[in-house]
Parts: sequence; structure tokens; C-alpha cells
Amino acid sequence: MAEHRHFIINSENLFDDIFVLNGNEGHHAARVTHIKRGDLITLIEGNGSAYGAVVDEVVGDRIKGHIIKLMKNYNESYIKIHLGIGLIKGAKLDIVVEKCTELGVHSISVLDLKNSVKKNTKLERLDAISLSAIKQCGRGFKPYICSCNLEDWIDGSSGGKRFVLHNGKNSKPLANLFSSSVKNENSIWLAIGPEGGFSKEELDILMRTGFKSVSLGMRRLRSETAAITSVGLIDQLTIQ
Ligand code: SAH
Repeated sequence: MAEHRHFIINSENLFDDIFVLNGNEGHHAARVTHIKRGDLITLIEGNGSAYGAVVDEVVGDRIKGHIIKLMKNYNESYIKIHLGIGLIKGAKLDIVVEKCTELGVHSISVLDLKNSVKKNTKLERLDAISLSAIKQCGRGFKPYICSCNLEDWIDGSSGGKRFVLHNGKNSKPLANLFSSSVKNENSIWLAIGPEGGFSKEELDILMRTGFKSVSLGMRRLRSETAAITSVGLIDQLTIQ
């Protein structure tokens, strides 16, 4: 992994091979991390690509420099992990978004399910957490984050393997399913229940639409633990 620091760049601050960091990002670069002329940095737009760049000038909170290389799919895995998680309490959802972003998740859909205690999601806040996580861990893509109902999420989940995390009698351990066939997939869909679990109707819909029931072991994990563990497991098993 590159040792130099990552900064978020907006497309309007890129002019061919010249870049400008200003505002909060410029302040952070100049005043907090003490970036100086001649330093190598990596700029991330959040669309998958990153730019290797050299700093030419630091004036106050404004940094100017030039790009020396484009890195496509920067630190991105070949497998797209799509997480559908029942709406859980805000602080717990924050943790899911931060940790699953670090672990390479491609999309997070917050599902309004029958047993969800909470009823609304602050998507802007989750987007900000995710953006900050890609900067911290150094990845090119900022995961898509949205809220939707279960049926719409299932409708959009075409292609790849689909799993519902559920500790039922017929559930197979998630780790055992990583045969070469799953490794060759390019999308994985994971459905995780809220604090109160899935309702029977929700589980029926998922099973009917081809989601296979998988377990993470005998213990009943919190939704956020199940999310981080399953995304992390797939991420680790598909490292190339
Ligand atoms: N009272 C609920 C527990 C919900 S735990 C119930 O009995 O169903 C919250 C969610 O985390 C579950 O809906 C499931 O998706 C996931 N989960 C928790 N422990 C798990 C385990 N051991 N294996 C697979 N999924 C698990």
C-alpha cells in the first residue's frame, strides 16, 4: 500500500493535470497533515479512480500541484458486495457504514423492515461517514448508500449470489460457501435483519426469490456485528 496520504478531490478542482485542494480538504492537508511542496499525495474522487500527484505550492489553506498518474479501481476488490441491512439505531448504523466501507462494501441499502425499531435514516450523515472512511483507508470508490423497502432491494439484486444471514436449521456456514464458484462471482448480495430479526413474511420473500440462508455460527450476533463479519469475511476470502 502507498504510504502517502489520501485526500478527497472534487472534479471541479481538477484542470487537466493540475489540481487544487481548498476548503476543508485544503485546510486538513496544509494545517493538520503539514503537506509541503514536493510531497507525493493520492487524490480520490470517490468514483473508483485515484490520482498520484505532486504538491507544487502551499499557500495558506490552498494547495496546488500536478497529477503524475491515474490509478483505476484503486484498492477496489473485483467482487461487488451489496449489503441490505434492516434499519437499526443511528450510532450502530454509523459503525456499519464506516467499517463496511473500510472492508470494501460496494453498496449499503438500509431496509425498512417490520421489526426495525427506528423509522428514519440520515443518509447525508451516512454518506459523510463513508467519504471520510474511503479517505482514511485509501480506496477509490465511495459506496452507494440508500434507503429502500425490501421488495425494491430484491428487485434490484440481479446477478451474482444472494444470501440471507439467518441462523436457522437449514443455514450453511457462510465461510463454507466460498467454493471456487462463489469466488468467480462478481456480485454478492447479503441481507441482514434489524435488532428484532426478520419477520416470517420477510424471510419467506427472501427465500422465494433465491436468497440462500447462511449462518455465522451458533451465537446470536447484533445486526452490526453480523454486517461487519460477513462483509469482512467475503473481503478477506476474495483478496487476490
Ligand atoms: N431476535 C432476532 C435476532 C436478530 S439478530 C432473531 O432471533 O431473529 C439481527 C440479525 O443479525 C439477524 O436477523 C441476522 O440477519 C443476523 N445474525 C445474527 N446472528 C447471526 C448468526 N449467528 N448467523 C447468521 N446471521 C446472524
